[in-house]
Amino acid sequence: MAADILTLDQLKQAMAYIAENMIASKEMLTRADQAIGDGDHGIGMARGFDAVRAALVEKQLNQVEDVFFTTGSCLLASIGGASGAIFGSFFLGASRSLKGSDVLDAAGFKQALTSGLEMVKKRGGAHIGDKTMVDALEPAVLAAGSYSGNSLADLSKQVYLAAQEGMQKTKTITARIGKAKTLGERTLGHADPGAISITLIFQFFNQFIEHLA
Ligand code: ADP
Ligand code: MG
Repeated sequence: MAADILTLDQLKQAMAYIAENMIASKEMLTRADQAIGDGDHGIGMARGFDAVRAALVEKQLNQVEDVFFTTGSCLLASIGGASGAIFGSFFLGASRSLKGSDVLDAAGFKQALTSGLEMVKKRGGAHIGDKTMVDALEPAVLAAGSYSGNSLADLSKQVYLAAQEGMQKTKTITARIGKAKTLGERTLGHADPGAISITLIFQFFNQFIEHLA
């Protein structure tokens, strides 16, 4: 049966599962950033999610918003560079829309995504086509907006697939923002590292929910 909601405990487990798998993706993300950046993306994400993993164990998280807030704060504080601010902002933005929620359902996840994207754009100023994680995140948020059912499992699958498609498209464009900007056409053929990371985050979230079902 498809999962319609995540309880607070399940959400904590989902975030721990994402953290573990992001840490395991370190080499792959490093190679992606070596191709068109400075090669630190894998190290940064692994460091950030290691802090998340520790905080999930050590901190008293009583509400759904706390899980997102703590994740955002850990990423912001421990990654540094562009992606610390950007990925931190995504989770902090998401937490804002979830105030007072005891569980995460499809409607809550949609709001969280929308508000996370808003925060990312406010912080980083990137638009679709700049070859950043926004190229994967924005299509994912749009896909969520056009999903009208109540199943968190189905919604998370749509979100992951849309992000993946957006991430694949970043291979066909040159960077207009961030460190890859100076490389121009040399970025063609390579996916944006941040777009890969946000796609992985949604992929692991979806995998966790599928395992629950
Ligand atoms: P840095 O660029 O400081 O080395 P990372 O390598 O960890 O940081 O992350 C690079 C990723 O950050 C890029 O692939 C891109 O997706 C994302 N990024 C950089 N600047 C922005 C921005 N202004 N808005 C959205 N995402 C951004
Ligand atoms: Mg980098």
